[in-house]
Amino acid sequence: MQEYWKNEPIRCLIGRDEICRMVRRLAGEISADYANLVETEEPLVMVGILKGAAVFLSDLVREMSIPTAMDFMAVSSYGASTTSSGVVRILHDLGSPIQDRHVIIVEDIVDTGLTLQYLKQHLAGREPASLHVCALLDKPERREVAVDIDYLGCEVPDEFLVGYGLDLDERYRDLPHVAVIETAGEGEGS
Ligand code: 5GP
Repeated sequence: MQEYWKNEPIRCLIGRDEICRMVRRLAGEISADYANLVETEEPLVMVGILKGAAVFLSDLVREMSIPTAMDFMAVSSYGASTTSSGVVRILHDLGSPIQDRHVIIVEDIVDTGLTLQYLKQHLAGREPASLHVCALLDKPERREVAVDIDYLGCEVPDEFLVGYGLDLDERYRDLPHVAVIETAGEGEGS
């Protein structure tokens, strides 16, 4: 069966194997840092930011060696445009309280940093025992506000990315790799 994306105007930036390696490394780092939770049998609360982080989070928790609980938040994002609005609104809130729980926000990609800055401030107000951030990708060139990423997959160039949860108008989330949209003229030549 031929993968549909082979005919799409996209170029692979981070392949499936590299993503697997990053996910394993991140899961190992987080599991080691929270190893004491195994004794307390208290799950680490992994908060995925919908929809982009859903694919990453589901792979990440399956590589972890400590108990985890998954929860999700949805915030307003780029919508149909490829530039940040800078406005962050909570569209879907957590299903359970996080007071006194150890929490990790799981993001697909950090761009301007506005979403993460808002989420960190907002969730800190709910008094978790600890609050850290795990992001698969980071575009440091685009940063507008400083945010700490405690667990990072890798840095990426300032290009619009799709795949592995990232979309363009809801397309391409299902790609197993991260890709760049080809612009006219790209990929041509000898
Ligand atoms: P920030 O608030 O850091 O500017 O934006 C973070 C969010 O913007 C990410 O969670 C993601 O939803 C979206 N985003 C940022 N860069 C990209 C990109 O290259 N491709 C896609 N599809 N979404 C992006």
